[in-house]
Amino acid sequence: MRKLTGALAFAAVLATTAVGFAAEPKPAFELPPLPYAANALEPVIDAKTMEIHHGKHHQAYVTGLNKAIAADKALEGKSLEELLAKAGTLPAAVRNNAGGHWNHSQFWKSMKAPGTGGKPADALAKAIETKFGSIDEFKQKFQTAGVGRFGSGWVWLIVTPGGELEITSTPNQDNPLMDVAEVKGAPILGNDLWEHAYYLKYQNRRADYLSAWWDLVDWAEVSKRFDAAKSAAN
Ligand code: MN
Repeated sequence: MRKLTGALAFAAVLATTAVGFAAEPKPAFELPPLPYAANALEPVIDAKTMEIHHGKHHQAYVTGLNKAIAADKALEGKSLEELLAKAGTLPAAVRNNAGGHWNHSQFWKSMKAPGTGGKPADALAKAIETKFGSIDEFKQKFQTAGVGRFGSGWVWLIVTPGGELEITSTPNQDNPLMDVAEVKGAPILGNDLWEHAYYLKYQNRRADYLSAWWDLVDWAEVSKRFDAAKSAAN
């Protein structure tokens, strides 16, 4: 027994040493954990969709981004925001995966259990009413923009550099922080229009998913982003 323990201890020392020598550099980006259980958004979004969406799709963007960065010394140490700001000049693998990582990281935090997300705070509510007429009209316009996006992409509520609210949509994993975006600004709320976000439960019915999704929106979080974007804009 003593002999075995000694052998194990020796093996452990070897293993530690080997790990020490072979240590890979820490990947530039990591998959953030979901801020709630995979089933927390049911019945609006089912647990299986969340598990695949976060654990497979979002993970793939993080893995792809780390791989693209490891292949290009010039990109080492750049923040996600720095990469997005010059996405148009970078390889497609960086643009797509950096966008995918940023978009999903914000998306998870935009949602919470059905019916618990409250309402927009006063400043945001007022800005929405001024720009779109009412919260309901805003929601309709946001949904229309989401339905109107051909293929995959995102629909956004942004604060423009001039401090205005705007609804916009981007293709693929682009977002309004990118130099290539038609309408640029700070995204404060985005919904994922890729079929992987809703297909298991809603199949082809993107419009039904878009209208059911409001029940999940964490308005305290969105209002916080609005305040931050407004003070950055002004
Ligand atoms: Mn997605």
